[in-house]
Amino acid sequence: MSWKFYEPPKLFFGKDALIENGELMRNLGKRAVITTGKSSSVNGSLNDLKKVLNSLGIDYEVYNRVGENPSFDMLRDARKIFENERIDFIIGLGGGSPMDFAKALGVLLANPEIDVSDIYDTEKYDGMTPVVAVPTTSGTGSEVTQYSVITNDEGHKGGFGTEFSFPTLSFADPKYTITMPERLTMSTGIDALCHAVEGFVSKRSSPIVRLLAAEAIKIIRDNLEKTMKNPENYDFREKMMYASTLAGIVIAQAGTTVNHAFGYPVTTFKGVRHGQATGMFLVETLKVMGEENEEIVTKVSEFFGGLEGLEEFLKSVGVYEADIEITDEDIRLWSERTSKAKHLRVTYGTFDFETVKRIYEKVREKLQ
Ligand code: NAP
Ligand code: FE
Repeated sequence: MSWKFYEPPKLFFGKDALIENGELMRNLGKRAVITTGKSSSVNGSLNDLKKVLNSLGIDYEVYNRVGENPSFDMLRDARKIFENERIDFIIGLGGGSPMDFAKALGVLLANPEIDVSDIYDTEKYDGMTPVVAVPTTSGTGSEVTQYSVITNDEGHKGGFGTEFSFPTLSFADPKYTITMPERLTMSTGIDALCHAVEGFVSKRSSPIVRLLAAEAIKIIRDNLEKTMKNPENYDFREKMMYASTLAGIVIAQAGTTVNHAFGYPVTTFKGVRHGQATGMFLVETLKVMGEENEEIVTKVSEFFGGLEGLEEFLKSVGVYEADIEITDEDIRLWSERTSKAKHLRVTYGTFDFETVKRIYEKVREKLQ
């Protein structure tokens, strides 16, 4: 048995995590940029953050134009504004989109010579302006991962992740997630479930990763639906955030499998949220992974009483409810790309063009 575990962020979890521990940002400097969307001014997180920064005498600017699935263009816009200023650190506040955006902007500010389109190629740069992460969704785990997912000019998602792209500090307070509506709660929870399941079956998995993944899977299995039905229940919100944090630690070590690549075009070209778009492929991709490693797929599906149980679970929370049109041409184009995804390096099973195409067709039939 041999494995590596690398998890550098200093993480504070729980109610008032930011308010009570935010003073640690003092060590990061005097001037910050907050990258965020619009919802942080509604769920209380932006207010809390401003209070902490004001009390520390840290000067900040709020950049609140980060949209879902951040793009090269959004990065160009932010870079232009901040490239000639001295920025000591960046605070990514919101769902995965603003947190991933903070990491990418951090790379661009620390490496002025690179082009935005070089962002996926970590060989081309070194270092990142320090990032603080404050999640307001329970899904991506970006607060504990090195990953940043950014959509390129053609609408394709790509990502980077390297030892220096983890946040330095993370403050995970479940109370910020209480404002998430039912479908967003579902999609983000399913993203976390996919992270845990994919990390469990990844070729890069390890005993410690499977321990954390198993815990995350059980918590999501037992609490996602309850959280969707009781959005204001803090205890359920806390459980879901705990699970997504665990699942984030899992993918930081083991990576995601090709299952994630299947969902990318369904998000960027058809507008289905990331977690839902990823979850709809999980059963079919696991079947193919099981052709090479039956033991690991059996083990992970046992949490649901088998793959049929997992299918039932996904159906019951509404993963297959997507009113979208997928053409044969879409499937052909997506299959070409997904059958070459870099996630394949850590994925069991053979995902050649024909197999990938068949999975897209199968999932198209499942959608209601
Ligand atoms: P998101 O794209 O950050 O946000 C989705 C929506 O939720 C936005 O409309 C946002 O509004 C809203 N929102 C956020 N917090 C809310 C709250 N507390 N209450 C109500 N609404 C809220 O969603 P996400 O699922 O967290 O992140 C998805 C992104 O992360 C994708 O780009 C995905 O590819 C990436 N991802 C990254 C990793 C990683 O390891 N880094 C892993 C998986 C996925 P506003 O925009 O107005 O704030
Ligand atoms: Fe994900």
